[in-house]
Amino acid sequence: MTIPGLVEAVPVPRAIAARADGLRDLIGMARSAIADALVEVGLADARQAGMRSKQIWSWIYNRGATDFAAMSDLSKPLREALALHFVVGRPEVVEAQVSTDGTRKWLLRSGGEEYEMVFIPDADRGTLCVSSQVGCTLNCRFCFTGTMKLVRNLTAGEIIGQVMLARDSLGEWPSQPEGRLLTNIVMMGMGEPLYNFDNVRDALKIVMDGDGLALSKRRITLSTSGVVPMMARAGEEIGVNLAVSLHAVTKEVRDEIVPLNKRYGIHELLAACSAYPGANNARRITFEYVMLKDKNDSDEDAHGLVDLLQRYRLPAKVNLIPFNPWPGSIYETSLPERVERFSQIIYAGGFSAPVRRPRGRDIMAACGQLKSSSEKISRAELDKRAAEKEAAWV
Ligand code: SAH
Ligand code: SF4
Repeated sequence: MTIPGLVEAVPVPRAIAARADGLRDLIGMARSAIADALVEVGLADARQAGMRSKQIWSWIYNRGATDFAAMSDLSKPLREALALHFVVGRPEVVEAQVSTDGTRKWLLRSGGEEYEMVFIPDADRGTLCVSSQVGCTLNCRFCFTGTMKLVRNLTAGEIIGQVMLARDSLGEWPSQPEGRLLTNIVMMGMGEPLYNFDNVRDALKIVMDGDGLALSKRRITLSTSGVVPMMARAGEEIGVNLAVSLHAVTKEVRDEIVPLNKRYGIHELLAACSAYPGANNARRITFEYVMLKDKNDSDEDAHGLVDLLQRYRLPAKVNLIPFNPWPGSIYETSLPERVERFSQIIYAGGFSAPVRRPRGRDIMAACGQLKSSSEKISRAELDKRAAEKEAAWV
């Protein structure tokens, strides 16, 4: 049963990636948690803990150190003792691929499960697309990730671990504000970030920490399929840019392609967008709209979208995403001239509506193509899984 205003339990197994060797991974822990852990194992008293955790933090997030031996401003006995209790880990890289357009995709493993991250280089920026879950409890009909049966939340350490690994691979240590290749982060990989709220928040807080990776909240975007009860908290406690996967303007079509719509409808969602803290004309909400041939791409749909955005007086921009196909997908990509026309109608309605150029399609790295097992399943099996997932939360 849904109780208005309360966040329901979500059927996702909790993210606990305990290490077999019993050592604790400092990655993903807040500075205060590192200080507490130092006291707990007897490596600092309450007075020293703050200072030491600050030094360790800086080595980890400013210098990218993974070896305590390198932390030269700590005494040798302390460094040795740290290594007896802790590690500074990274997810394991199972496979790394590079697209002909320069997009890179990594298949990562930790805690026995696999997930993907993608780096998209552009002339003026480099965007890391980060996963929040292994799989996704939701089942948007156009999304490959939604077909995965296995779902678990990633820990804060596994989420920030993706950023650390990307930095390692780009050779971007120590952190410098100027000349970075990795300039932006989008929570648009596998999973629904607002169904893993605490871990996503904790990880992004570390990404934004001025003494660490120091990425501005203006360079981070969180994309949600519309988990309405969590949106206000996302604005208050994380405060990054918001992207909303709208994808349709009628109940009928959105119910079909984004089944979460049956729980939180379009109007409830747009009202939550109007109330999103920090949204204004300088920081507009991005509405993502996947272009599916003959499904949601008519002139009428485009006019409907303009009407909705105007009615809710939203500081909005629209991002049109040509559908990226995957094995077994049932939709087709809208024709380029259709996408163009759709975009023009939105522009004429007063909203910017650029078309997102597909990146990394050849290595299945584009939006909605991420999936961490090569398992092939039939349409009937897909529908069965969708029904099972929906039954778990309706
Ligand atoms: N779960 C979040 C974020 C991950 S998906 C969300 O749904 O918003 C990132 C974006 O890719 C979303 O807008 C999603 O709807 C879109 N997407 C999913 N599958 C796609 C596909 N096959 N082609 C194009 N975009 C897709
Ligand atoms: Fe999950 Fe987002 Fe894919 Fe929908 S589009 S199934 S919410 S990852």
